[in-house]
Amino acid sequence: MPGTTRRPGFLPRAARYHGWMKEAQPSQLATRIVHHDYLPPADFVAPQPGVFKASTVIFPTVAAMRSREWKDKSGYTYGLHGTPTTFILEERLCTLEGGLQCLLVPSGLAAIANVALALLKPGDEVLIPDNAYGPNKDLANGELRRFGITHAFYDALDPADLAARITPATKLVWLEAAGSVTLEFPDLCEQVRICRARGVTTALDNTWGAGLAFSPFDLLGDGTQGEGTLGVDISAHALTKYPSGGGDVLMGSVITRDAGLHMKLKLTHMRLGLGVAGNDAEAVLRALPSIGLRYRAHDEAARQLARWMQQQPAVAQVLHPALEESPGHAHWKALCGAAQGGQGAAAGLFSVVFDARYTQQQVDAFCDGLRLFKLGYSWGGPMSLVVPYELPSMRSKAATHLQPGTLVRFSVGLEAVQDLRQDLLQAMDRAFAA
Ligand SMILES: *Cc1c(COP(=O)(O)O)cnc(C)c1O
Repeated sequence: MPGTTRRPGFLPRAARYHGWMKEAQPSQLATRIVHHDYLPPADFVAPQPGVFKASTVIFPTVAAMRSREWKDKSGYTYGLHGTPTTFILEERLCTLEGGLQCLLVPSGLAAIANVALALLKPGDEVLIPDNAYGPNKDLANGELRRFGITHAFYDALDPADLAARITPATKLVWLEAAGSVTLEFPDLCEQVRICRARGVTTALDNTWGAGLAFSPFDLLGDGTQGEGTLGVDISAHALTKYPSGGGDVLMGSVITRDAGLHMKLKLTHMRLGLGVAGNDAEAVLRALPSIGLRYRAHDEAARQLARWMQQQPAVAQVLHPALEESPGHAHWKALCGAAQGGQGAAAGLFSVVFDARYTQQQVDAFCDGLRLFKLGYSWGGPMSLVVPYELPSMRSKAATHLQPGTLVRFSVGLEAVQDLRQDLLQAMDRAFAA
C-alpha cells in the first residue's frame, strides 16, 4: 500500500491531529481522503495572507479543547470566533483607524446593532443625530424600543442641543461625520467633550471618514493616545463602502481602544452569533492596501463635480463639507483640512437640492435619464451611483439650513470626471428643459 512509505513533506505533527496515524492507515479510500496526513510546510510567505475558512477548528487534545481561550487571539476555537484570515483583517483595520481592538460583523448595520445591544438595557436612552444613517434610527424605533430602551434625536449642528438632551438615562451617544445624505459636518470635538464630561459612551459611525479623513481616536491629531487624548470610545465602520471598494462585499467593524469595553462588545458579538466568512474577509484584505489611493480619487472627482454642480441653473444648493457654503464646513476644515497633504479629505459623496420650481417627477426623470450614474444604494465602489431622497420623511424636524426642493445624493465612482459631468449635463438638459 503506497501510504505505508512516508514521503517528504509528510509532517509528523499532522499525526497528532489525525489520531489514526498512531495506528495503521485506514483501509478505505473515503476515510483516507478525509483524514489525510499531509500538511504543507508552514513558512509560506506571499504578499497576501491565506484564506482560512472554518466552522470547525480541530484541537489536538481534550485538555486543549477545554482550556483554549476564545476571548483573545492566542488560539482558535470555532470559526465564529476567528480564523487567521479574520484576525489579520482585524489588526489591519485597527491600524487604519488607530484602534487597539476590532470585531468583524456581517454588515455596517450589524456593527451599529452590536454596539447598541451590548451597551443598552431597559430604561436606558440612546441619543442619535437627526441626520444619522437611517437604519440606525430604525433600529432605535424597532428592536430597542421593544426592549424598553428609549431614544431621542439631536441636532448634529448644535452641540447645545446634544448637551441639553443628555440625562442620567443616557448611556450611548451616536455621532456621525458627515451626516447621512445631507452631509452636514458636526463639531465632533465639542460633541465628544460634552459626552465625556457627562460620562456617556460615544460611538461614531466612521464610514464616511473611513479612518482616512480624520483619526476617530485622536481627533486633535496630537498622536499621544494617552489619558488626555480626545477621541470617541467606539468606531463603527461599514467596510461595505471604502474598505471593500468593490460594491460586492457586506461587512462591518467595531473598533475600540479599551479592553473592557471591547470585551463587553465581544460577549454580545459571540452571543448573537455575529461572524464573517473567510472569502469576504479576503476580499477586504485584498482591497485594503489601495484604500488611500481610492479614497483620494473619489474625493477629488466628487469635489470637482460638486463645484461644477453649484454653477448649474437648476441647482439650488450643493451639500459637500469641503464647499464653503455647506453646513458645518468650518468643522470639516478644522478636523479634516490637514489630511491628504493639506488639501483636506472627504469621501466621494455630495448631494444636490434641485430648485423648488422643479417637480418631484422632473427630478425623478433626471435620475432616470442618467446613463453612467446608476440608481442604487451604498457607495465606495468603482461605479457612480445616484439616489433621490424624500428628505422630510427622514428627519424628525425640518432642516432650516437646507434650501427647499428635491434632494438627490450622488456617490462618485472611479470613472473619468469629464464623462460624469457630461452625463449630469445631458440628464439635466432633458429633465429640466423649460
Ligand atoms: C452603508 C452604511 C452603513 C451600513 O452598512 P451596511 O454594510 O450596508 O449595513 C452604516 N452607516 C453608514 C454611514 C453607511 O453609509
